[in-house]
Order: sequence, then structure tokens, then C-alpha cells
Amino acid sequence: MVSEKIVVVEDETDIREVLVYNFEREGFVVWGAADGRYALKLIQNKKPDLVLLDLMLPGLDGLSICKELKNDNITATIPIIMVTAKGEESDIVAGLELGADDYVTKPFSPKELIARVKAVLRRGRVLLTELDHNCIERNGITVDIERHTVFVDGEPVSSFTATELKLLYFLALNAGRVFTRDHLLSRVMGEDSFVVDRNIDVHIQAIRKKIGRERKIIETIRGIGYRFRD
Ligand code: CA
Repeated sequence: MVSEKIVVVEDETDIREVLVYNFEREGFVVWGAADGRYALKLIQNKKPDLVLLDLMLPGLDGLSICKELKNDNITATIPIIMVTAKGEESDIVAGLELGADDYVTKPFSPKELIARVKAVLRRGRVLLTELDHNCIERNGITVDIERHTVFVDGEPVSSFTATELKLLYFLALNAGRVFTRDHLLSRVMGEDSFVVDRNIDVHIQAIRKKIGRERKIIETIRGIGYRFRD
């Protein structure tokens, strides 16, 4: 099996070294970067499978790096996990809207971070195989676009509006990933002029009510947005 490649962008030497050590031990090929500008060059050169990105950096900050990577076709598909400090919710929201895949808040354990990295890499692979299907099953919830039906533990629930169906499908397809309200608005309802209510919270509440006992599958991430539990 070919080793997956990771770039760790972190200016705190201790943290960076611990991460590089732990990911190498897990079989990844790892490069570390402490400076934002150097990190951007390194990522463009190495084209890793994933980037761990600290936000507060000398040279060029993490959000600017994220923006540069997502604006370039060659690097746009590289998953990014942001490494953030407590109280940086607005930066997390900005990063997710720029296209970052996930975030972890300091302090975190290397073990937790490794699990998150593996989940993001796995998700990327699953998405490719499910992209053209109109039916998805996650954690007991099945969303069938063609039959316009949601099944909860095998039982059909058919009173979903087209918007709710699309929203639930999108969240389930990207299970484990956090989306901001703006992101959901543009990704799910963006081009759809039939949507009357553009308030995401209203649609989420309606979905939860309809899926009943499994309602907790859609989590509210305070200050950030929503996530379908992985
Ligand atoms: Ca930092």
C-alpha cells in the first residue's frame, strides 16, 4: 500500500514535532512547516493527501493559505483540517466557508487527531463512489431522492418537502463534516428559486421533527453550524 502524505503546518515547535512523530509512526509520509509562506510552497510542491493547518502563523495566516489552496485547481481538492485555539469560532466558520473539511480545537490528543485525519481521508474515498447515486444510507437513515422518501430504521417517512429532502441528503452524504448555515444555503438551495424559506434553522427543525427518535443524528455545533453524525 502506498503511504498517504500529510503536511503539518504549525509554528509551535513542540506541537509540530509531536504531530510529525505520531503520523510517521502511523505510516504516513509527513512534512512539517512553521511559516505560512513556506507552508504554501511546500503544499504546492508535494501535493499531499491532506493538510493540517494551524490558523495563527507567521508569514501568512492559515485562512489565507486555505484560500490560496482552494482557488487553485491543482490544490483545491486537498482536504484541510484546521487546528484552532479556543474562541476562534468566527475563524472556523470562515475556514469552513472557504472549503476546509474539518477542524480540531487545541488542546487535542494526537490519537484524536489521527482518528479525524483517517475519517476525512476515508470520507473522500466514499464520496467518490457515491457521487452519482440518488440514494444514501447512513446510521439507520436512508434518503431516497428518486422515490422522494426518507426511511428511518426501514420505516418510510414520506412527508418531506423537496428542500428538506435535499438538505438531509447533502448532510448524510457528507456525514461527519460540519457545515455553516451559509454553506448549506449556497450548496443546497443556492440555485433553487422554489425555496420559500431561506432560514436553514427552520428546515433543520422540520427534518428533526419528521425523523423522530433519530433526530439527534443531526447535531447543532454551537457557533458553527450543523453536522450529520458520522
Ligand atoms: Ca500558531
